Amino acid sequence: MDKIKMTTPLVEMDGDEMTRILWKMIKDELLLPFIDLNTEYYDLGLEHRNATDDQVTVDSALATKKYGVAVKCATITPNAARVKEYDLKEMWKSPNGTIRAILDGTVFRAPIVVKGIEPNVKTWKKPITIARHAYGDVYKGTEMKIPGPGKVELVYTAEDGSETRELIHNFTGAGIVQGMHNLSDSISSFAHSCFKYALDTKQDLWFATKDTISKKYDHTFKDIFQDIYDADYKEAFEAAGIEYFYTLIDDAVARVMKSEGGYIWACKNYDGDVMSDMISSAFGSLAMMTSVLVSPDGYYEYEAAHGTVQRHYYKYLNGEETSTNSVATIFAWTGALRKRGELDGNAALAEFADKLEKATIDTIESGKMTRDLSLLTTLEDVTILNSEDFIKAIRETLEKSL
Ligand code: NAP
Ligand code: MG
Repeated sequence: MDKIKMTTPLVEMDGDEMTRILWKMIKDELLLPFIDLNTEYYDLGLEHRNATDDQVTVDSALATKKYGVAVKCATITPNAARVKEYDLKEMWKSPNGTIRAILDGTVFRAPIVVKGIEPNVKTWKKPITIARHAYGDVYKGTEMKIPGPGKVELVYTAEDGSETRELIHNFTGAGIVQGMHNLSDSISSFAHSCFKYALDTKQDLWFATKDTISKKYDHTFKDIFQDIYDADYKEAFEAAGIEYFYTLIDDAVARVMKSEGGYIWACKNYDGDVMSDMISSAFGSLAMMTSVLVSPDGYYEYEAAHGTVQRHYYKYLNGEETSTNSVATIFAWTGALRKRGELDGNAALAEFADKLEKATIDTIESGKMTRDLSLLTTLEDVTILNSEDFIKAIRETLEKSL
């Protein structure tokens, strides 16, 4: 069989620890035998980030702007322990934060659904994708403890020096206060990313805030989404047969619990933080959660939602057998390859991505899986495989379908 050709390179961001080991196995077993893999390689492993003063992270994000699609391995975000462990020059920032700052995107997280790993919510049949706004609100808040009686106000001083005031509260005793903000530009980018991704994946888009109580703050989110929808996306949504649906956050939560899934749920920063943990644990496992950063300019960066699986890596270094789940990392590759295929009109590449995903799911549904899934599954006849044998089992299933 001839290998599939690629016209445009994919930006490849290698990473750390156990996921770096899986990365190579996935390439060797599942990609290189079938594709003339054309990637521009960036080593985001912590040693190389340190050696380049983290310039490599910036370069990889700029390359994503140039080529449009990237696939990223999980990376270490250094803390004090890592600075010591890797003898770092500095406590380098989170690569994901750096990349997000350059691409200005929204992160979409979706579970990979397989038979035998049933969601805790019985009605959920299809994945629910969470789109979390990643700027502002309580994450950039300013807080104060109020020691005793006194007046607290919001003050806006315009550039010409004029002031607008709004009373927060006349305190008669001790209390607390918090100020937070968001930016119209950031909310607009968030909205564009969500509408684009809904069209891209042909799924309904839900958005919810507490606009009945927060008549200016949350209401502005609602208005910006609606204005952008009416001006730029309404026709395309209707043509694609999908819906944009706004409701109150309380109503959204109730509807999600009774839904079948199969839509995107756009959330403000805090709601997305909380709800994505609820959705991922109710669907089963962090190792089965994909993540894609979509920029408002239409750049895509695919990755697994989990980290570098450090505990398994130390076992691996000790020569012990590991059973680390590579599914989310495989799906990061297939997501990126499919997108590359779509953008380049390369049907063979997109089709290969579909087949690899199907082979992965079929392998698990046939009872062959890693240890983490064996603890969750309702299947009876289960074979627990080690990291490498699981990938080899997927290759066997894949070869039968090619
Ligand atoms: P983690 O790597 O997600 O792992 C936490 C635990 O979850 C593991 O110890 C393992 O449980 C289980 N797990 C996660 N992924 C798994 C998989 N693919 N297969 C099987 N089990 C899996 O989180 P962490 O240990 O808190 O973080 C490790 C490093 O990852 C940190 O340096 C952090 O900075 C980095 N991180 C990176 C990203 C990213 O690049 N996007 C995201 C999060 C964290 P058991 O040990 O019980 O088997
Ligand atoms: Mg959280």
